[in-house]
Amino acid sequence: MKYYNLKDKNEVVDFKTATIKGQGKEKGLFYPQFLPQFDNDFIENLNQYSNEEIAFLCMKDFVGEEIPSEILKDIVSETINFEIPLKKINENIYSLELFHGPTLAFKDIGAKFMSQCLSYFLKDKNKKVTVLVATSGDTGGAVANGFYDVENINVVILYPKNRVSSIQEKQLTALGKNISALEVDGSFDDCQQLVKQAFSDKEINSKIFLTSANSINVARWLPQQIYYLLALKQWQKLESQKPIICVPSGNFGNICAGLLAHFRGLSAEHFIAACNENDVIPNYLKNEKFEVKDTVATLSNAMDVGSPSNFVRILELFENQFNELKNKISGYSINDKETLQTITKVYEKYGYVLEPHSAVAYFALEKYLKDNPEKKGFILSTAHPVKFPDAVEKAINLKIKLPETLDELMKKDKKSTEIKPYLKELKRFLLNQNK
Ligand SMILES: *Cc1c(COP(=O)(O)O)cnc(C)c1O
Repeated sequence: MKYYNLKDKNEVVDFKTATIKGQGKEKGLFYPQFLPQFDNDFIENLNQYSNEEIAFLCMKDFVGEEIPSEILKDIVSETINFEIPLKKINENIYSLELFHGPTLAFKDIGAKFMSQCLSYFLKDKNKKVTVLVATSGDTGGAVANGFYDVENINVVILYPKNRVSSIQEKQLTALGKNISALEVDGSFDDCQQLVKQAFSDKEINSKIFLTSANSINVARWLPQQIYYLLALKQWQKLESQKPIICVPSGNFGNICAGLLAHFRGLSAEHFIAACNENDVIPNYLKNEKFEVKDTVATLSNAMDVGSPSNFVRILELFENQFNELKNKISGYSINDKETLQTITKVYEKYGYVLEPHSAVAYFALEKYLKDNPEKKGFILSTAHPVKFPDAVEKAINLKIKLPETLDELMKKDKKSTEIKPYLKELKRFLLNQNK
């Protein structure tokens, strides 16, 4: 498979280059040259395939010859190496629980796949790569875990001091080995700013090969299609109609992967982009105006994105046909009060515990179903409630038990380096590390 740069269609690269470079010229996103279609027979009989077979068939054409099939099979098996159950909340709404992975976040899937591919591509080379990421809490843990102990790769994570939950902080700081955590005396925006500055700094880039691990990277974005297929496999056993799929969205990588799978043949009735108060896309779907805004801080902070970078991929998918886009996707913007009320209500009525991101999705899907009462659907539950204890405890006054899989991690010590939000401090760290 070849990928072209959405900002310059003459720049065409293979999967390997797209994975190593992350993005193209002028910071353009890479996009697949064609969409391999799923067999009808495959989509209608998913239950006859194992999860590993489904994951392999989903990904193989995007990787092509660049990774041998046997190795790709191992990579996808490793990627989905935990349960992804579709649970019934009530008559019309199900929850696809994507949070049973190593860091209890759906980003585990993309991060794992990407790290395995990058590791394969760098094997037997003397090339060392530094993955640099800023995190508001959730991304960093998944990336750290995905890349932990992977040869030839150093990971440097910037996170805002005192602004991530205690579990999130452990996930960032306690691993050690090739993972370094920088505790930035500032906000998440400061962290992001520093990463951007580092990527355009001549001196750093002359000495270190930097790459990012956000959903802009095709190797992190594309494997997210897999769980839409795994959801459908379970859905087909429970319901006869096609599902409404509701995705809590920030940077729009996740929903874009679902739409991609849909264009390849995955059956779905409709998609919902559920946003918090960062409502650029819900507004766009209303009036066709794309107005970037400053980011608003909310309870569902992993979706606090003022300018969703993956949306250009959605526009490409729909060939910029606004009406078709509007017929397939509905957008909702949900505020913090509605988010908390939803957590309370769903727990009291159905005994199901949502965290803020999934609650945003639940509210949006319920709203859609009010206008379309004969339909049914599922939300993507993107994080475990235990990762957002403040909001959950506030809404339902319940202490969430930590899954046993985290016991080991919580016993480890935090190791981090504190820096002020200045490029020269980040630079000193990076250059020292690579001496
Ligand atoms: C990253 C994240 C999202 C948003 O996903 P996008 O692909 O950026 O739209 C939603 N929920 C949680 C918990 C996340 O960490």
